[in-house]
Amino acid sequence: IVELRDVRKRFGSLEVLKGVSFSVARGEVVALIGQSGSGKSTALRCMDRLETIEGGEMFVCGHAMHTGTVDLAALRRDVGIVFQGYNLFPHLTVAQNVMLGLRLVKGKTKAEATQIANAVLDRVGLQSKVESYPEQLSGGQQQRVAIARGLAMQPKVMLFDEVTSALDPQLTGEVLRVIEGLAKDGMTMILVTHEMDFARRVADKIIFMHNGVVREQGGPEILTNPGTEELARFVAAA
Ligand code: ATP
Ligand code: MG
Repeated sequence: IVELRDVRKRFGSLEVLKGVSFSVARGEVVALIGQSGSGKSTALRCMDRLETIEGGEMFVCGHAMHTGTVDLAALRRDVGIVFQGYNLFPHLTVAQNVMLGLRLVKGKTKAEATQIANAVLDRVGLQSKVESYPEQLSGGQQQRVAIARGLAMQPKVMLFDEVTSALDPQLTGEVLRVIEGLAKDGMTMILVTHEMDFARRVADKIIFMHNGVVREQGGPEILTNPGTEELARFVAAA
């Protein structure tokens, strides 16, 4: 459902992706790990066309990202992305935040949007907060609203970029449990994460990026038995 072949991306003179190749199958949960600056967020952003790639080939849900003719609206329907900052609208309620994309992008009626919003907010455990405003929620609850907003669009793939790194341990746990539930339901997900225990438990595949390339990839066991010195050092420091 996602495939990268020798993907390249630079910012000015800085080569950030130097030939990245990996693939993600439908229903797979992939943890993208690696040191700060190794290119994880850039790779994720390229998958949602927030950045354009400059070399190689990339297919996301059938969209050929290396061509100039990506249908952005269709891509955004297929791909949900959740960042560290929740980017909720402060003047809208939780339900309104979740319904916005359904109304504007998917053209749902108010009744349909309300029904979907209730269902996804229930799924992330926030059914009692639909009428609250973001500032009345904890960080973990806000992050779960952001996840619900992504889910509401019924994407084929969800991308998560360090969604727990701004949260304290207890709130981190509640967000990770939501993601784990999605994994059990068969959602295809690519997670950039520093939570090694979580990656070991939930991911089907670990992709370790180092200096703009995939240095090592494999099942969760590579975190216990790294095949490269770089991954061994990364795991030891995590
Ligand atoms: P972290 O774990 O710190 O989030 P990362 O692996 O996600 O790191 P990226 O955010 O992909 O790393 O950044 C890779 C490199 O590209 C870094 O050196 C960063 O400074 C640089 N970079 C990222 N975005 C831009 C940009 N828009 N303009 C210029 N340089 C950028
Ligand atoms: Mg990053």
